[in-house]
Amino acid sequence: MTHISYSELKNWEFCPFYHKLTYIDGIKSFKGNEYTAFGTAIHDVCEKKLLGENFNAEETFIKKFQKELKSLENDKVEFDLERAMGMIPQAISLLPEIEPALEDYFKKYEIISSEEKLMVPINENIDFKGYIDAVVKTSDGKYHIVDWKSTSWGWNSRRRTDPMVTYQLTLYKYFFCQKHNIDSRNVETHFALLKRTADKNKVEFFRVSSGMKKTENALKLLHMALYNIEKQRYLKKRSNCHKCAFNMTAECP
Ligand code: SF4
Repeated sequence: MTHISYSELKNWEFCPFYHKLTYIDGIKSFKGNEYTAFGTAIHDVCEKKLLGENFNAEETFIKKFQKELKSLENDKVEFDLERAMGMIPQAISLLPEIEPALEDYFKKYEIISSEEKLMVPINENIDFKGYIDAVVKTSDGKYHIVDWKSTSWGWNSRRRTDPMVTYQLTLYKYFFCQKHNIDSRNVETHFALLKRTADKNKVEFFRVSSGMKKTENALKLLHMALYNIEKQRYLKKRSNCHKCAFNMTAECP
């Protein structure tokens, strides 16, 4: 193992044995569905918009979405085609709101990067790997790390403050600052919700605090995971079995 990503850490936190099955043994329990296909396609459009490319957003979304659905079909993944087709008009009404929402939220800003790759050493053996959806710099000199999240109507307050959800931005901020040697006090973190079924405010930005204490906690979890993975300690977190695709399967009877 030469690197660890946030999603790998999240899976380890869910259940260390689940992490072993998926990352060490390479057994894929989840190959995607129409929702992940939608998320990938809309991310693609957001990336192009931020890069200032001259393109047709609707056409790009539809092509990418169809490609993602085709790849699910090729992988023999069952999905709801009718629901997937219903997502196209949802995307078409959401797409024009992306840039106005960005302008409304950040006012005066410049795009620093889109889909920026992080591969930053945690120690001499392992790197932290991630892709930051967007980095924006506002006129007060602050950097803002943004992660796009596609959702149906939005997130409730529990989800917005769930430490494991928000650690993604906390870790991105920490390693972004390391990579560029930027003072963490000059960096803020935000999620941008892309809402398929909302009637208004289809694109909502909200700030997530990623202060010192939270960074400490996120790094503590990261080091604990690395220590246990290295020692090949694959504990079974039985409290999560009811939510797990491996429950009562040959891989985890
Ligand atoms: S079924 Fe339970 S113990 Fe097995 S991998 Fe899933 S969560 Fe872990």
